[in-house]
Amino acid sequence: MTGIDDLPIRDELRGKSPYGAPQLDVPVQLNTNENPYPLPEPLVERIAERVREAARGLNRYPDRDAIELRTELATYLTRTGKHPVALENVWAANGSNEVIQQLLQTFGGPGRTAIGFEPSYSMHGLIARGTGTGWLSGPRNDDFTIDVAAAATAIAEHRPDVVFVTSPNNPTGTAVDAETVLALYEAAQAAKPSLVVIDEAYVEFSHRPSLLPLLEGRPHLVVSRTMSKAFGAAGLRLGYLAAHRAVVDAVQLVRLPYHLSAVTQATALAALEHTDTLLKYVEQLKEERDRLVAELRAIGYEVTESDANFVQFGRFEDAHAMWQKILDRGVLVRDNGVPGRLRVTAGTPEENDAFLDAVRALKKEHS
Ligand code: PMP
Repeated sequence: MTGIDDLPIRDELRGKSPYGAPQLDVPVQLNTNENPYPLPEPLVERIAERVREAARGLNRYPDRDAIELRTELATYLTRTGKHPVALENVWAANGSNEVIQQLLQTFGGPGRTAIGFEPSYSMHGLIARGTGTGWLSGPRNDDFTIDVAAAATAIAEHRPDVVFVTSPNNPTGTAVDAETVLALYEAAQAAKPSLVVIDEAYVEFSHRPSLLPLLEGRPHLVVSRTMSKAFGAAGLRLGYLAAHRAVVDAVQLVRLPYHLSAVTQATALAALEHTDTLLKYVEQLKEERDRLVAELRAIGYEVTESDANFVQFGRFEDAHAMWQKILDRGVLVRDNGVPGRLRVTAGTPEENDAFLDAVRALKKEHS
């Protein structure tokens, strides 16, 4: 039997596993930070209309530069981010994972390194590996905030080409303040200079405003975003970034031509027309997230402050065994490998109740 390792694959991929949150068919799925609300029917109708129109032109390649879509994304960022963003400052791709891949293809690569402060979004390191970029794991404090002094020292010492700051952070839920980003940006510029990427996949759920205004006067800063979470469109695969126009020009050196299909562009444009409705769901989810934090604490769990649509809780002697026990009660949460902790995504009130009932019962069993 030929296995992966019998193939002439790149050495750094040998023995590795692909990214794989389990996709199990259980009643309550709170494991991948998706938005639990299906798109509202009028938006589904609008998508159908826009896609029908796009279908008439599918014999042609799509708009390679996604001008209309990037213009609408710029309008959304300007309206919500308290910072003027123009078409030239925005780039879009198939999910923010692809945005990150394009950034690493452009600014990382063989002989270069990227750093993240872990635990954080594991795909930063995996995409680094996939693009031949060396990966460095930077430290965090015990409360999962970034240890600014230690992080700045790590940057000065290793002189990475790309610095990832995830705010709010996944899987901990912790947001990063502007002072921390500025300190890391200064450290990164003094060391190299390098590109600093703020991954704001969850920012719409945060108690704090976006870090977008920090882009002003900082050409080596990038903010990446996604429609997978706040827009409730994980299945769409649409991520985007805001940065200096030179960064947007640079990623076009590596993007595949016509990478964003006409169907994707049409669907994303329809969703952006319904921004206000979709952001109302975000408000509900923020309330549910705050309720999860409060109720988990009331049950007696240790809970990390959350600015995202998920909550990290513990502590467990054996987090994986606890994950399995919650699953046995029909609720799928996530074991991200953080010792003693699990992560639960905020779902509908009913889903959250089911989750809380399960962990309440398990707490009783163990006390
Ligand atoms: N960044 C972070 C921090 C994430 O948690 C995720 C999704 N889990 C992504 C980026 C990627 O999202 P997408 O590719 O769906 O835009």
